[in-house]
Amino acid sequence: MPVKPKVAICWLGSCGGCDEAVVDINEVLLRVADNVDFVLWPVALDFKYHHVKSMKDGEILLSVVNGHVRNSEQEEIARLLREKSQLVLAFGACACFGGTPGLANLTTKEDIFNWVYRDAPTVVNPNGNYPQTRSHVNGKELILPEFYDQVYALNQIIDVDYYLPGCPPPPYLVMSAMSAVIEGKLPPKGSTLAPHRALCDTCKRNNSKPERLAIKEIKRIHEVEADPDICFLAQGIICLGPVTRGGCGESCIDINIPCRGCFGPVEGVADAGAKFVSALASILDAQYEEELARVIDQIVDPVGYLDRFSLPVSTFRNKWSKESS
Ligand code: SF4
Ligand code: SF4
Repeated sequence: MPVKPKVAICWLGSCGGCDEAVVDINEVLLRVADNVDFVLWPVALDFKYHHVKSMKDGEILLSVVNGHVRNSEQEEIARLLREKSQLVLAFGACACFGGTPGLANLTTKEDIFNWVYRDAPTVVNPNGNYPQTRSHVNGKELILPEFYDQVYALNQIIDVDYYLPGCPPPPYLVMSAMSAVIEGKLPPKGSTLAPHRALCDTCKRNNSKPERLAIKEIKRIHEVEADPDICFLAQGIICLGPVTRGGCGESCIDINIPCRGCFGPVEGVADAGAKFVSALASILDAQYEEELARVIDQIVDPVGYLDRFSLPVSTFRNKWSKESS
């Protein structure tokens, strides 16, 4: 019997949604399972890390890694899978860019610990105990992973071969990525396994976008009843479609929610948030500095709007953090 290629699926700092996205390919998953040997998938199969540690370097064809890296255990697993795998796929916005947990980089590790273990109204901690990496209980040493100062995207820790963005990636892209690996039809290393066009290019509302946008007021989506057929930007609602990679299936737009950028920057753009700032400057309809400042002040949560999924890899990451600390 021919030896099947080995595949690992693993979550690091993850909500579990990316693992569900793999299950969402339904019966296709059974066909994938016919063609590969899963050697690690903590959410679904009972393999242990020591099974992976005992493998030869490069013995795994593909490791599909979702979630960000925020502690020493996650870093150790990421490094182990890199060592044992020919290919590593960063799966989902957290692995690709840090994801929404990356917004925690706006605050410090100390502030997070103080809130979670001391200050939050629901906390009862009279002895002021904080988690320690090493502690002794009944003569036994207990070890916890070290919590890092910040959230990292996967490629800030290990070398990554391919990227599949989305929060989580849609099933059709998961299927095509799996097929590309199994059939050996992969694009050059470093590629994103998703369309290269901007979301606006395929958005049903694109025809309603005027040739020249002129925004006088910025509104938040919950403040208005957005017209479901008109481009959000034309309604003064920030939508990152012009700078975000398409391929998500427009599920947010379809339920009348503007794009927040979970697919990351469009091909050729390093930072979607930074690109949108420059695009915004050209579409704001304000003649005087004060007027411009007034409109910009209407963006209540600029980081949440522009870097919701990508703060750890953002051009502005240090600036935002300093301003908010
Ligand atoms: S990318 Fe989204 S679905 Fe996937 S782990 Fe991160 S938050 Fe969850
Ligand atoms: S800005 Fe948003 S709503 Fe407008 S066309 Fe682009 S994706 Fe669609």
